[in-house]
Amino acid sequence: MADRDGVIWLDGKMVPWRDARVHVLTHTLHYGMGVFEGVRAYDAAHGTAIFRLEDHTRRLFNSARILGMKIPYSPEELSAAQIASVRENGLETAYIRPMCFFGSEGMGLRADNLEVHVMVAAWTWGSYLGEENMSRGIRIHTSSYSRHHVNVTLCKAKANGNYMNSMLALQEAVACGYDEAMLLDTEGYVAEGSGENIFIVRDGVIYTPDLTSALDGITRRTIFTLADEEGLKIVEKRITRDEVYIADEAFFTGTAAEVTPIREVDNRPIGEGTRGPITQRLQSLYFDVVKGRQPKHEGWLTYV
Ligand code: PMP
Repeated sequence: MADRDGVIWLDGKMVPWRDARVHVLTHTLHYGMGVFEGVRAYDAAHGTAIFRLEDHTRRLFNSARILGMKIPYSPEELSAAQIASVRENGLETAYIRPMCFFGSEGMGLRADNLEVHVMVAAWTWGSYLGEENMSRGIRIHTSSYSRHHVNVTLCKAKANGNYMNSMLALQEAVACGYDEAMLLDTEGYVAEGSGENIFIVRDGVIYTPDLTSALDGITRRTIFTLADEEGLKIVEKRITRDEVYIADEAFFTGTAAEVTPIREVDNRPIGEGTRGPITQRLQSLYFDVVKGRQPKHEGWLTYV
């Protein structure tokens, strides 16, 4: 990743990709306290457009507020930095990664002598869970790792350190031959994937876990709007593992994962063991919206 052409926005200016470096004593590298976002830009109807940029930027600032980090830029400045990172790298489609981290000005957990640094990188990244899986669906595994408890790390923050839990779960799932993990909360109810929100469909109704220990996903919110416009009912509630087993359909949502069907959980096929019709409908609507083919939702696109 580090050895490539291009530019990265770092602390207010564009620097050559290979020169966007930090010191080994960078505080966030040691303790994991930092916040970030994952944002996508698509090749849309009138050029490259970032999907729900303002919402991602707002979540970044909310994550920082939760951790008590003071970002030394305004939301407008960081939105502009994300646009610039796509434009100046000449990208038609992009995954954009803004991150705020503590620097190497000091060490220790007090973290009272540190500066908050900000970087924004953008590069082309295809389907996160594999192109063929977008129609076929993925196989997932109930993780042996619990999702964060609300009072251990704070689940509303998209915080660097929270992803150690995601990585343990995903690595376990992959080692067991699955594509992704499904994490349960500390009480045993379904929370989310390692980097995705989860939905199930039963008898025509869509269910998704409430946000107690899952990230408030922007794709999740998009699905709420699209389902509502289709006259489909979505219910937020506690979901048990066996409810997923007997669902007619299931899918994951996320900026990286987009809308990915789930065809199997813990070696049990979900429904027919393929992408279900409601999943397919919402997936297709999602791609219409992000690619600017739905004038009604033009407001979610920021052309670069
Ligand atoms: N949960 C977790 C743990 C995530 O990392 C992500 C990806 N940001 C999501 C859910 C989905 O969020 P979004 O739709 O905003 O990308």
